[in-house]
Amino acid sequence: MGNDIVLPDHDFHGSWGRRYTICLPLSNLWDEYKSNRASVELRYDEILAEYTNLFTEFFDGFIPLSFHAHVSDASNPSLITGFLLYTAGVSILLGLDSSIPTRMVQPEMIEPIKRFYGWNNCHITAPRFAVIRGAYGAAYGHLAYISKEWDLSLGAGPEPFVIEPDDSLAADLKDRLCEAKSIGCIAVVLEMVSTTNGLPISPYFFSKLREACLENNLFLIVDEALTAIRCGSPFCFQREEYAVSTAKSCGPDIVLFGKGLGLCGFAVNFGGQMMKKAGFVTKDSQMLMTAFWRNLVTQPVQTPVLIEAIDILKAAQTENWPDRSKSVGRIVRDLVWEAEARTAMPGAERNPIRGLDSMILIERHRSSKFPINGAMLKRSMWVRWLPKLDLSMTDPNLVKNYIFGSEGVTNRQLKSRIAVAHGKMPMWCYVCSTPAGGPDWCRTCFLSSRTQQACEEAFRHHPCFDRKQLKGRL
Ligand SMILES: [Zn+2]
Ligand SMILES: [Zn+2]
Repeated sequence: MGNDIVLPDHDFHGSWGRRYTICLPLSNLWDEYKSNRASVELRYDEILAEYTNLFTEFFDGFIPLSFHAHVSDASNPSLITGFLLYTAGVSILLGLDSSIPTRMVQPEMIEPIKRFYGWNNCHITAPRFAVIRGAYGAAYGHLAYISKEWDLSLGAGPEPFVIEPDDSLAADLKDRLCEAKSIGCIAVVLEMVSTTNGLPISPYFFSKLREACLENNLFLIVDEALTAIRCGSPFCFQREEYAVSTAKSCGPDIVLFGKGLGLCGFAVNFGGQMMKKAGFVTKDSQMLMTAFWRNLVTQPVQTPVLIEAIDILKAAQTENWPDRSKSVGRIVRDLVWEAEARTAMPGAERNPIRGLDSMILIERHRSSKFPINGAMLKRSMWVRWLPKLDLSMTDPNLVKNYIFGSEGVTNRQLKSRIAVAHGKMPMWCYVCSTPAGGPDWCRTCFLSSRTQQACEEAFRHHPCFDRKQLKGRL
């Protein structure tokens, strides 16, 4: 089924960004899986290899090596440290690093590995991350320490070492990271666009960070769970201004991926600025290491999940979703400005909308003027708009009419009738983005709220097509 028949969708929440598209073209493998599951399962290794090759090609050399249930599971310092120990161990056993003798028994291996990375016991027994402020980290675990989502500090495990993404402090990064290394940090984790405030990392800061990581033997890990594909390039740091895609040897070592890609985990660039020291130069040695890790440490994923992840990558590649994300982002931003210009004072400047391309962060008070379902964090003034990348979203008139304008009402009412017929409603509260409930949702706008007084009260004032509150504004 082609995406061209799918009308623009005002659900910019997308289950917290877990959907890039409304209608994913499905492979023929699904029919076979339904009729003869056993024969498809027999080809599991081929399917896993196809996924690995597609991912590696699309993301310019990053191999999806370790799979986990959620991206926050993949961002555990102990897991990453275990992986790095294992990588160095395999490198030594295979004789990839010529400075270390290869004939070694297991217990003696640890000392060369520590020297290899500049670690002491602390890096192995209580590893930590240095984290660039602005990363989301709202999960139970070490990154919950830096989350604004919890009422109490519910972080567990080693507390991260927080670094300010401030250009004026970039000159001091080497010293800061030296301090981080001395207390047990093994890597720096960053998001290219902060999911909490929408500010992109500046190319200058990114370049200084890369240098400082290298100088301190710290691995560079980029969390691309939300930014992959949405920010105008496969991974956000592969955008032209970060100039990494043309210089892989000074690029990040590990990328955390998940959400819309259908599969979560971490991907490795064996040519990354620190990773390349492990000596996995040839494709064969990289695939050998990948097979070791998958077979011995992480379980490969179930077949249907893998087939869907392949479908997503194929569509992203053939339909060029990174390019689409630029068009969609531009169209949505222009329509917001166009709508705001109608009520603005003459000569007033456009208020900036944060984020990059189709990862849009807009202030809560501005978002609430539009009949669009966003994804907001409880304590943040910024709402994330994560529009889908279907073809119809690249047509400014369709987006204007169906999402921002009253021509979309017929479509919204149709969605409402379908939902009612199935005893369902729009999934996410228009006011606070958590799961919605209660009978009083708007059948005209296809928007809903949570059954909580504050949400219900605010929802009564949503910009409703029924009450024509949008008149003159859209
Ligand atoms: Zn709510
Ligand atoms: Zn309404």
